[in-house]
Amino acid sequence: MHKHDQALIFESSTPGRIGYSLPEMDVPVTDIAELIPADYLRVEEPGLPEVSELDIMRHYTALSKRNHGLDSGFYPLGSCTMKYNPKINEVVARFNGFAHLHPLQDESSVQGALELMYDLQQHLKEITGMDEVTLQPAAGAHGEWTGLMLIRAFHESNGDNKRTKVIVPDSAHGTNPASATVAGFETITVKSNEDGLVDLDDLRSVVGEDTAALMLTNPNTLGLFEENILEMAAIIHEAGGKLYYDGANLNAVLSKARPGDMGFDVVHLNLHKTFTGPHGGGGPGSGPVGVKAELIPFLPKPIIDKKGEEYVLDYDRPQSIGRVKPYYGNFGINVRAYTYIRSMGPDGLQAVTENAVLNANYMMRRLAPYYDLPFDKHCKHEFVLSGRRQKKLGVRTLDIAKRLLDFGYHPPTIYFPLNVEECIMIEPTETESKETLDAFIDVMIQIAKEAEDHPEMVQEAPHTTVVGRLDEALAARKPVLRYQKS
Ligand SMILES: *Cc1c(COP(=O)(O)O)cnc(C)c1O
Repeated sequence: MHKHDQALIFESSTPGRIGYSLPEMDVPVTDIAELIPADYLRVEEPGLPEVSELDIMRHYTALSKRNHGLDSGFYPLGSCTMKYNPKINEVVARFNGFAHLHPLQDESSVQGALELMYDLQQHLKEITGMDEVTLQPAAGAHGEWTGLMLIRAFHESNGDNKRTKVIVPDSAHGTNPASATVAGFETITVKSNEDGLVDLDDLRSVVGEDTAALMLTNPNTLGLFEENILEMAAIIHEAGGKLYYDGANLNAVLSKARPGDMGFDVVHLNLHKTFTGPHGGGGPGSGPVGVKAELIPFLPKPIIDKKGEEYVLDYDRPQSIGRVKPYYGNFGINVRAYTYIRSMGPDGLQAVTENAVLNANYMMRRLAPYYDLPFDKHCKHEFVLSGRRQKKLGVRTLDIAKRLLDFGYHPPTIYFPLNVEECIMIEPTETESKETLDAFIDVMIQIAKEAEDHPEMVQEAPHTTVVGRLDEALAARKPVLRYQKS
């Protein structure tokens, strides 16, 4: 790294240089030592750099440029739907009437916020085909857990206490088995067949009186639409189980098909994916859960209801599983999703689906000659390639991902799903232009050629980033989270 890199502010400290100037203090100073117990007093100087305001500006600006974000470049991270988040969402979320509310305000003084939440629930009911929606869960996995708790409460209310197992296909999102475990269920895995879809014979062989639910990710993590959903629904319902739809990635289904019409009893959505809430960096998210009528009594409370012209919070829900989040959910993300749905309208949402699927299929077909395509089928919003061919040349999928950094791209999701060797999972999203897709495709083709002609170029990547290959195991086990003076 260059010695004069602006980010090395700690090393470029000049004794006596300051970034502020304040008038002399003209009030009597109490001896700090009298107010603070001796144990809490610093014995050594904190070792902060002595720099000007301009130096510190450049320091933080330089650091911010080291991040790759959606607003700085293409981000085809499969399963994460890194689509453009329209700035109108931000404008609306910052309205004083939304941003300056306090969650403990009286209902009568937050009617506008309650109306927005109520209306958002109506839109999500319409989009999913469900009978009621809660906005409380704070993320997708939280929605899954909430949905499973609802299913458990339903079974228990029928005195049906032996349903301890949740069936999860091997092509499901990784949070599904994790949520089932956290909710106290045992996870049973069903295999995919050679078409990448749930193997119905395998499903039939594990379904029984102990089946609480089947959790289905659709389109599954291979980007494929599960074609036998109605048959799966019949198998599970005949056995008395419930059907859970992981709708985190609704991009390929939105306004074309509805989980409620397919027979699902519970669905969760990720407003921070499909409905343009900003995400990455740990949140906040929003994972609303929709349910069919039978499950409404168990929804988290309070429920937002409309009585005449007034919006109310209904706490009188004796069968509710209780609150799953303090207050009412991540309201700011719900405002953004509401703004998105209203500004797109039904036609706009239909175009989202069509373009998301078109972009993914275009990219898949153009890359298919250069990378192995494990499932040669029409894909939905995303698709998977396999780096098997490149691996034989000594270039692993991890190397390909690292090489993409040299071209300013965020790599796709790699090594997931687990049922594809050297998996590369690409989700272009509908908000990218054909020019952007073509530029990325060209780079992927160039990397495939490099793997054949000079593999070390890929094996040693990245070459242009501030840091090269990190020891990822060490970084996870012994992270250095703050600057340490050498
Ligand atoms: C992202 C995702 C989840 C988990 O959502 P979080 O908000 O990250 O908890 C669950 N299922 C699928 C299919 C996803 O893509």
